[in-house]
Amino acid sequence: MVPRVVFGQGSFSQLKDILLPKRKNADAPFIFLVDDFFEDKDFVSRIPLMFNDQVIFVSADEEPKTAQVDALVSRIKEQFDESPSGIIGIGGGTLLDLAKAVAILLNNTGLAKDYQGWDLVSRPAVYHVGIPTISGTGAEVSRTTVLLGPEKKLGINSDHTTYDQVILDPDLAVTVPKEQWFYTGMDCFIHCVESLTGSYLNAFSQSYGEKAMELCKEVFLGDIPETESRDKLMMASWHGGMSIAYSQVGIAHAMSYGLSYLLGTKHGIGNCLVFQHLEEYYPEGVVLFKQMLEKHQIELPQGVCSNLTQDDFDIMVNVSLGMEPLWENALGEDWKKIMTPERLQALYQKI
Ligand code: NAD
Ligand code: ZN
Repeated sequence: MVPRVVFGQGSFSQLKDILLPKRKNADAPFIFLVDDFFEDKDFVSRIPLMFNDQVIFVSADEEPKTAQVDALVSRIKEQFDESPSGIIGIGGGTLLDLAKAVAILLNNTGLAKDYQGWDLVSRPAVYHVGIPTISGTGAEVSRTTVLLGPEKKLGINSDHTTYDQVILDPDLAVTVPKEQWFYTGMDCFIHCVESLTGSYLNAFSQSYGEKAMELCKEVFLGDIPETESRDKLMMASWHGGMSIAYSQVGIAHAMSYGLSYLLGTKHGIGNCLVFQHLEEYYPEGVVLFKQMLEKHQIELPQGVCSNLTQDDFDIMVNVSLGMEPLWENALGEDWKKIMTPERLQALYQKI
C-alpha cells in the first residue's frame, strides 16, 4: 500500500515541504515527469524547483512503452552524476505508470522489459511521488505499472512499484475534457463491476469495491456540484484501485488489452467499447453503464473492428485469451469452455 497520502483541494502546494526532507544533497535532483498538457500552463510555475531539479514534459497520446522508460532512465543517468533524490509523476495513468517504471529502473540493472511480470524487481526503487491530474485508473495506488513491451503489454507488478507518497488534489483535474473524464472515470466503474462480480472476490476487495461503486454512482448518475464530484471521483479511483489490488479485473479488461495491442486503443475508451456489449456477463453493470452514457450524452465510436482481417481477429483473441487470471476471475475455473475463440471474436465483431 501507499504509505503516505495527502488529500484536499489545493494540497499540491504542500509538495515543496514534502520533498524538502527527501533531498539527498544539492547534486541529487528531483525529476518531475509531467503530462505535456501542462507545458504552457500557469501550473508549471507551481512546481517547486531547487538546485538542478528538472521538469520533463511527456505526451500521454500513446500509452507508456518499455523503450520509452529505458530512454528516460539513460537520459537521467547521462545528465546527472548523482542518482536522483526522487521522481515525481504528474498526470493521468500514463504519466503515473511512466514515473513508477523510471524510479524502478534507475535502481535496477537491465531493461524495463526484463521486469514485466510478477515480483521480478529485487532492489527498491528511487523515492517516487504520484500526483494524479485525472481520476479513474487507480494507478496512483496500485502495485503495477502497465507497459507496452516488444513482446507483450504487461505490468511490472512488485512491492517496489507502489508510490512512496501520493498527493490527491482534485483541483488539478479541473481542466479535464468531458469525454476524457468519462472514459477514465469508467475505468474505475468497470474495475468495481469486475472486482465485485469476480470469483476472486474477498472481504478486503469487496469493502473497497463497494465504496468505489457507491461514489461512482453519485458522480455519474447523481446531480452533485462539480467540486464535490471531482473530490468523490478521486476517492473512487483510489478505492477502485485498492479493490483490484487484492482481486482481479475481468472480461472488459481482457478484451481491451487485445484492442490496445492491435489498434493502440487507449485503456479508458477501450474498456467502454467492450463493456457496452457485455450484458450477458455483467447484466446490472451494463444497465448502469448505459444510463451513464445517456446522462452525459457520450457517443462511443462505432465500426472500430469493422475492417479487420481474420489475422487481426486472431491476434486480438490470442492476446486477450492470454490474460488467464482475468478470465478465471470472471468466469470461474472452467472459463475455457465458456469463452471459446469463436465466441470472443463474435464479441469483437460487435465493436
Ligand atoms: P492518460 O494519462 O492517458 O491521459 C488521457 C488524456 O488526458 C491525455 O490526453 C492527457 O494529456 C489528458 N489529461 C490528463 N490530465 C489532464 C488535465 N488535468 N487536464 C486536461 N487534460 C488532462 O489517461 P488515463 O486514463 O488516466 O490513463 C490511462 C493509462 O493508465 C493507460 O496507459 C493504462 O494502461 C494505465 N492504467 C494503469 C493502471 C495501473 O494500475 N497502473 C490501471 C489502469 C490503467
Ligand atoms: Zn483499468
